[in-house]
Amino acid sequence: MDTDMFVAWFEEAARLVHRDRERLTRLDAAIGDADHGTNLDRGLSEVRKALTEWPPESPVQVLTSAGTALIRRVGGASGPLYGSVFRQMGKVLESPVTLAGFSAAFEEGVVAVERLGKAAPGDKTMVDALAPASRALALAVRDGAGVREAFEQAARAAAEGAEATIPMQARKGRASYLGERSIGHEDPGAASSALFMAALAAVA
Ligand code: ADP
Ligand code: MG
Ligand code: MG
Repeated sequence: MDTDMFVAWFEEAARLVHRDRERLTRLDAAIGDADHGTNLDRGLSEVRKALTEWPPESPVQVLTSAGTALIRRVGGASGPLYGSVFRQMGKVLESPVTLAGFSAAFEEGVVAVERLGKAAPGDKTMVDALAPASRALALAVRDGAGVREAFEQAARAAAEGAEATIPMQARKGRASYLGERSIGHEDPGAASSALFMAALAAVA
C-alpha cells in the first residue's frame, strides 16, 4: 500500500460524499441540523486541494494532511472526529504499510474517535460503522485475506453497521437531544463512515 493508494482513497471518498451529499444532509435533517453532507463535502474538497498543493511523500503524510484539512474545514462535530481517526492513524502507521499495519492503525484511529466523542458502539454515531469495520478488518488479517478482500469485508461491515443505527436511540451528538424521536433514522455520520470504507475497497 503506497502513497498513491492513500491519495486515491481520499479522492474516491470525496467523490462518493459529493455524490451522496444530499442523502447525508437529508439524514441529518431528520435527526440533526441538516448540514452533514455539506460539511463533509466542503471538508473533502479541502482535503483534495491540500493533497494537490502539497503532494504528500508518504501514506503518513496523506493521513496527517487529510485529517488536518477535515478538522479545519468540516465545521461540525464530525470534522474533529474524522480528523482524529486519520491523524491518529498517521501517528501510529508503520512503513512500509502492510494490511496488518493498516488494520492496527485503523483500530487506534477508531479508539481515538471513541475517546474524543465519548461514544461507544450502540450510541448511534459514526462509531457504529467504524468499529465493526475495524473488527472485520482485524478478522480478515487474522484469516490471511488479501488487501482487496479485507477492505471489501470492512466496507460491508461498515454498511451493515450504518444500517443497524436505524432502530437505535441516539446517546451522543445533536441527535441525542431528540431522545426517542431519534429512533427510526440512520445516523448520518455512520452513513458517511460507510462511504469512507467503500472508497477504501474501491481503490484497493
Ligand atoms: P453537527 O452535529 O455538529 O452538525 P455533523 O452533522 O457534520 O456535525 O456530524 C454529525 C455526526 O457526527 C453524527 O451523525 C454522528 O455520527 C457524529 N457524532 C456527533 N457527535 C458524536 C460523538 N460525541 N461521538 C461520535 N460521533 C459523533
Ligand atoms: Mg449536522
Ligand atoms: Mg452542524
